[in-house]
Amino acid sequence: MSEQEYDTVIVGAGFAGLYALHKFRDGLGLSAVVIEAGDDVGGTWYWNRYPGARCDIESYSYSYSFSEELQQEWCWSERFAGQPEILRYLNHVADRFGLRSDIRFGTRVTSASWDDDSRRWTVVTDGGEQLVCRFLVSGVGNLSAAKDPEFDGLERFGGNVYATARWPHEGVDFTGRRVGVVGTGASGIQVIPEIAKQAAHLTVFQRTPNYATPIGNGAMDPEFDRYVKANYAALRDRSRNHFLGVPYDLVQPSALALDDTERRRVYEQRWAQGGFRLFFDAFADLVFDEAANDTAAEFIREKIRQRVTDPRVAEVLAPTDYPYATKRPPLETNYYETFNRDNVTLVDLRSTPIERVTAAGVRTSDSEHELDDIVLATGFDAMTGPLLRMNLTGRNGTPLAERWADGPRTYLGLMVHGFPNLFLITGPQSPSVLYNMPLAIEDHVDWIADCITHLREQGSASIEPTPDAEDGWVAETAQLAGNTLLPRTDSWYMGANVPGKPRVCMVYLGGAPTYRQICSDVVAKGYEGFALAPEGATANA
Ligand SMILES: Cc1cc2nc3c(=O)[nH]c(=O)nc-3n(C[C@H](O)[C@H](O)[C@H](O)COP(=O)(O)OP(=O)(O)OC[C@H]3O[C@@H](n4cnc5c(N)ncnc54)[C@H](O)[C@@H]3O)c2cc1C
Repeated sequence: MSEQEYDTVIVGAGFAGLYALHKFRDGLGLSAVVIEAGDDVGGTWYWNRYPGARCDIESYSYSYSFSEELQQEWCWSERFAGQPEILRYLNHVADRFGLRSDIRFGTRVTSASWDDDSRRWTVVTDGGEQLVCRFLVSGVGNLSAAKDPEFDGLERFGGNVYATARWPHEGVDFTGRRVGVVGTGASGIQVIPEIAKQAAHLTVFQRTPNYATPIGNGAMDPEFDRYVKANYAALRDRSRNHFLGVPYDLVQPSALALDDTERRRVYEQRWAQGGFRLFFDAFADLVFDEAANDTAAEFIREKIRQRVTDPRVAEVLAPTDYPYATKRPPLETNYYETFNRDNVTLVDLRSTPIERVTAAGVRTSDSEHELDDIVLATGFDAMTGPLLRMNLTGRNGTPLAERWADGPRTYLGLMVHGFPNLFLITGPQSPSVLYNMPLAIEDHVDWIADCITHLREQGSASIEPTPDAEDGWVAETAQLAGNTLLPRTDSWYMGANVPGKPRVCMVYLGGAPTYRQICSDVVAKGYEGFALAPEGATANA
């Protein structure tokens, strides 16, 4: 087994790993290598190549801010870029900053363990390599471990099976085919209208209906592009001071403070604006107050009923048993109109669950749906999944899976007690998936870089959170979640989409500005809540 030594091993070559490599290698002068399971850069945008895949935060926001030159030279063709364009952007970043030479593609980290004597991590790959490093930085993503389907028989199916999260690079031609899509989360809602346009027949298997709202995509307006480029610094600043990391500023305090007519006017306006305006730029109490939430939920249900011509189909598509935005709110283009097409059938799995996949198709409790192709849009083992699949072992041989048996335990979503020098970019219990992710990633990478610089200046070999600081953070994230409506709903935010997974909120819900302030206060107070071990000393147990 070959062994190589680095200052830093970074796992993943998506938005997180690419910026981390640039920052640590070119900014701090560390020796660094990225290990990436895929054959090229891009992460989410490398794997999720299904038709209709696109970001749902405006592209000028859903992009890096660390390089003014990059911001100025890159032109987005659409308001919300599609997957091919985002992938081109990340390839451009990799080339522009000379990153490829330090990325090992087609290589998966299969385990990593901390050695307290040498104060080093040993990282093992599926190619049988051992890499020794001082700092192990996870950029494995929150939505990169696809969830296994919860039904049997896929291996018996006579047709083709595709997964939105592992889409074939050469694309798929569904012309003349009978296709079944399983799952109506954010990916399902993007792919369904696209497949419906091509397939002979599309059967949509829905377990939980979703509150999808229009994305409002279109070509990038050249005048708006000029405005953005002239004002990028201010826009980024406003974004970083916004809960979701976007430069929105129309939010009103309460949906209940307005009468029906005024409230509807606000909802109609946000609906027309598209993107996450309805979710995050209408009323601040939507995820905190059930009565406020009901007004938005009912508004969306009315829209669904107006758009879907068959009232029975509309009722199946309209969610009634959980509050709006307590699952990841999907954005759509012609999603509901798709169910008015003659070649589309909706199957309600709540009344007729899938029993199994057969050689001919999908068998539900009341009939067999014959199919040529099955598309799985069944979601992810989110947040903790990719980290636990790396088989991390901390001090005294303790596996991360054991420490996190009851749910993730971190301090600031950045570090874990007993796992020194392991940094989690957008880890569980940070704002992560509820913060425009390129900015969330940059904030974390910058914090980690400052931390490593501090360790060098102090002559410290390692850093990790104290047990008390970690306990406090776990309690704080749980308490913040408890103030919202999120714990009421079975969502991937709560780990509730994966059977047997602990049901805890995995996102810090205090908002990105508060979180950023906490992180900088921790630094200002001399890395409060962290224990630093000097070179040569025995680490605290
Ligand atoms: C379809 C889709 C749409 C999205 N849209 C938005 C959006 O509009 N706005 C937003 O803010 N976020 C969005 N997200 C979230 C998105 O994941 C992040 O925005 C961002 O791409 C995360 O970047 P990352 O580098 O942290 O992780 P990823 O892009 O997930 O990259 C992680 C990489 O790590 C690799 N990896 C994982 N484990 C290992 C291992 N053990 N060994 C080696 N390599 C490993 C994976 O192969 C992957 O390439 C979306 C996610 C999906 C799936």
